[in-house]
Amino acid sequence: MSKQGNLSIHSENIFPIIKKWLYSDHDIFVREIISNACDAILKFRKLCDMGETTDETQTPFEVTVTVNEKESTITVSDNGIGMTEEEVEKYITQIAFSGAEDFLNKYQDKMDKEQIIGHFGLGFYSSFMVADTVEIDTLSYTGAPSVHWSCDGGTTYELSEGKRTTRGTDIILHVTEESKEFLNFYTLSSTIEKYCNFMPVPIYVVDANKETTTSAEGEENTVEAPKPINDPIPLYTKKPSECTDEEYKTFYSKTFMDYNEPLFWIHLDMDYPFNLKGILYFPKLHNEYEMVEGKIKLYNNQVFVADNIKEVIPEFLLLLKGIVDCPDIPLNVSRSFLQNDGFVKKISDYITKKVADKLISLYKKELDHYKSCWDSISPFIKYGCLREEKFSTKMKDYILYKTIDDEYITLNDYLEKVKDTNENKVFYVSDKEKQSQYVTMFKENNLSAIYLTHPIDSSFISHMEMQNKDVKFMRIDADISSALKEENTAIDTAKEEKLNTLFTSILNNDKLKVKLETLKSQTVPSMLLISEESRRMQEMMKLYGMDTNGM
Ligand code: ADP
Ligand code: MG
Repeated sequence: MSKQGNLSIHSENIFPIIKKWLYSDHDIFVREIISNACDAILKFRKLCDMGETTDETQTPFEVTVTVNEKESTITVSDNGIGMTEEEVEKYITQIAFSGAEDFLNKYQDKMDKEQIIGHFGLGFYSSFMVADTVEIDTLSYTGAPSVHWSCDGGTTYELSEGKRTTRGTDIILHVTEESKEFLNFYTLSSTIEKYCNFMPVPIYVVDANKETTTSAEGEENTVEAPKPINDPIPLYTKKPSECTDEEYKTFYSKTFMDYNEPLFWIHLDMDYPFNLKGILYFPKLHNEYEMVEGKIKLYNNQVFVADNIKEVIPEFLLLLKGIVDCPDIPLNVSRSFLQNDGFVKKISDYITKKVADKLISLYKKELDHYKSCWDSISPFIKYGCLREEKFSTKMKDYILYKTIDDEYITLNDYLEKVKDTNENKVFYVSDKEKQSQYVTMFKENNLSAIYLTHPIDSSFISHMEMQNKDVKFMRIDADISSALKEENTAIDTAKEEKLNTLFTSILNNDKLKVKLETLKSQTVPSMLLISEESRRMQEMMKLYGMDTNGM
């Protein structure tokens, strides 16, 4: 015999869970309540566009957040669609019943799904993470009487006649002692900036306790027109063809508080097979060893989700600075979910490809600019090659090397240049100062070497050797190119023998064999060669903290 039943959920049990665990960051209530206000406005605008209603007031659409520290309240007001009593009961009191989804289903055919933010029907309750009592005062666009709802976080609520006389909704949070930091105007403003800086409706923040300002001389200040805290039409939502270089640069400095100009940028704009918009900037490094500290901000429909989510953005791209807005990524991202999501992999592949395409096109069309950026972008590109096979394959022929003559050339160009002297060996300098005398020696003899002085280069060299099997990278003191050897001078064998005895006894190693050769150089009197393989092995062991004695 089998039996079926319904799971029943008691709100007295679920409330504390929502309050505590739904979102890990308490400040997220800001995002949820303000995004509901924006949704309410977008819904009303949509109804007007569809001819379902008309906007008689013609007041500009906006959201106002008023903080009253003395009364411990934060009020979020909108002039959106409002709610009738039935709607309050349905959307607010039925936890996890999303009015956003309901709205979308109702107007499914006429709606562009991406525009409404809400989804889960839980956002409103995040207000109880910071407030003990929440009130709603709302007037529906339908002309139904205004409604007042209030709830003290228990399982009952009160409904009565509301006070609002204009269309829209006030959400009033009575903030708890515990969360009173949000009652500070500046804390609240910066939290709003963090989550709402690109929300699609102008948002104003007002300090209710601030008296009308008069200047020290007692004259009344001319009141400046208040400015919204957000940018409702961020640059990345526009078509790339409509944006100017100046706009890209201004957007960069405003968004990332970086007053150095970016080197270049990539405007992402994709509709199929998924929606994705954004701009990635390549920041300029002040010197080539500077630690690159990027930041990729992830948005969902102009609502901030989080910074630097490496499950969505390939890790090496986190060295860049940028915005990625993808409406298909859930707002309350759980990282383990994202990790296993094939869709997320597609996003990251797409972004990686776009970045490689941009770099290759710069190489092909603006080589001089590409070269001038190389010092700044090379750690990023090399890291990308080490981390992403596909990126590496695409970028293989567009990696530049800086030669000791300060030229930037590709590996193939280098090999071509040295083909008569180097036999597929790439001589490199890993430390400009310590190896400077060898650099001079190379220059004296018209030989070429490249600089590979960045910490990432030692890993990158092995990577390049794997990719170019017949090429060998040699540190400038690891081997002597035949062009540096004086062929016709006789070797002093007695000296050679003496040195042999000296080295074998000092190093206590009778397998050692000392071989003398004559160097063509004015600057370097003598040179002790250090085998590339054993040096690399030693360096690796040091890196892993292994004992290198006896090597
Ligand atoms: P979601 O936004 O995912 O639908 P929420 O819990 O955030 O879920 O909100 C529940 C519902 O309450 C919304 O879908 C909407 O119908 C209604 N609502 C919340 N805030 C407002 C508001 N400011 N104006 C009009 N309706 C609102
Ligand atoms: Mg919501």
